[in-house]
Amino acid sequence: MNQAECPICGSQISFQSLLEENELLNCESCNNKLVVKNIIGNNITLEEAPHIEEDWGQ
Ligand SMILES: [Zn+2]
Repeated sequence: MNQAECPICGSQISFQSLLEENELLNCESCNNKLVVKNIIGNNITLEEAPHIEEDWGQ
């Protein structure tokens, strides 16, 4: 089983399956969308996913 730390809330996320780089997932703790930035061995780095549905209007 793989684990990675949520970059937003810092909680540990466990993965049953193998992840691939650029795969999107949801943090169950803070409910933010995350993207797999890179995988080095068992060390998975997550990053906040870019917001596609941002409100661009200011
Ligand atoms: Zn989180």
